[in-house]
Amino acid sequence: MAFRAVKGMNDILPEEAGRWQRLESSFRSTVALYGYEELRTPIVESSDLFVRSIGETTDVVDKEMYSFTRHHESLTLRPEGTAGAARAYVEHTRYAKEAVTRWFYMGPMFRAEKPQKGRYRQFHQAGCEIYGDSGPVADAEMIAMLCRFFEGLGVGGLKVAINSIGSSATRQRYHQALFAYFEPRKAELSPHAQERLAVNPLRILDSKDERDRNVSSEAPSILEVLTDEDAAHFRMLTASLDAMSIGYQIEPRLVRGLDYYTRTLFEISSTADELGTQNALAGGGRYDGMIEGLGGPTTPAVGFALGIERLLLAMKDEPQLAPPFCYFASMGSAAITKAVMFGQELRSYGFRAEVDGRDKSLKSQLRRADNLGVRYVVVLGDSELGRGVAVLKDLVNHQQQEVGFEVLVSTIVERLRAPQPAEGAA
Ligand code: AMP
Repeated sequence: MAFRAVKGMNDILPEEAGRWQRLESSFRSTVALYGYEELRTPIVESSDLFVRSIGETTDVVDKEMYSFTRHHESLTLRPEGTAGAARAYVEHTRYAKEAVTRWFYMGPMFRAEKPQKGRYRQFHQAGCEIYGDSGPVADAEMIAMLCRFFEGLGVGGLKVAINSIGSSATRQRYHQALFAYFEPRKAELSPHAQERLAVNPLRILDSKDERDRNVSSEAPSILEVLTDEDAAHFRMLTASLDAMSIGYQIEPRLVRGLDYYTRTLFEISSTADELGTQNALAGGGRYDGMIEGLGGPTTPAVGFALGIERLLLAMKDEPQLAPPFCYFASMGSAAITKAVMFGQELRSYGFRAEVDGRDKSLKSQLRRADNLGVRYVVVLGDSELGRGVAVLKDLVNHQQQEVGFEVLVSTIVERLRAPQPAEGAA
């Protein structure tokens, strides 16, 4: 039986890779404007790290982790990037080296979810984290940066949802208020939500189950029980977004899947048709307790992750003109050896050169050049070799000329450097 990629995990073929590269380089240049530096952490971490930081009662930890045991240690393919970044922050005592740390990362994440359009088991996220800044302006600037990035990629119909789930004092109050609300309605909840009720009633608000959604619709809002400090933080967040003219909606029921959040939460979605139901592009928030929970000093932190596959679905394409290059079609081993030398020389000028070494007929080599969309082809056979010349063909203008070996590379370089006609133009 032929092998296939693992369900929910996809190949990215060369014809798609160009869009990935465009998205990634745009992300890098946008976050650089805000002072983020790149962090690369291992794809595998200790399972305990995710249990401790993401939280045991979350779907991700409870049902979706790819875990295995090696050398008596339980390891997990990272389901998200925040835990590894926080671990690295503590492990390398960055708090002792700089007051504020701004990191970004990009890479594959793994969750055993039910695959569908926009939801995969290996998917890719790009994300940012700020450590050491508790102010709501950091949160607002992150949201503004994301909007700038998405708009730059031509993503339309952006919606920014924000909420505050307060710090632990607020959460305790809210926990009680929710418990008091759900307890008398327990029988109407899904079995899973019933289990969660005592442990983590907040997560019931996040449930996708119709029964839980119905019961939750009248649940008390967390914004009503915020402490004064938490309320002030949230007010400053909205004021900063207003100052930057970023539109947003306050959604008191936005709680998001992971347990580690405190205060600010946000989610950015798009109404672009291509996304269908999986329309959340990015999510994030503040997690002021995580660094301490992982053994570091009390350190405020805020971060987000965006889904690259979903963004690719929503991103507008710009016509990309591939830079012109030269193809060497040669017949016979002596001519092929000569072509290989010219190819090397041309590349040292920074131009792409492809040397056909198959020793096939001229016709089939020209067909391959044509399929590649190449503009210039150098033809070299025995008769050209004997006379010290090559035939330089221009496939766009349908012209050709013989060029002596001594000026061949300089002639091609001159042609490749000249402005090229736009695609489709005569
Ligand atoms: P989360 O880490 O769950 O907050 O997700 C952040 C973003 O990652 C989401 O808004 C999605 O864009 C993306 N994402 C999360 N899970 C998946 C998945 N299974 N497949 C593809 N993208 C995902």
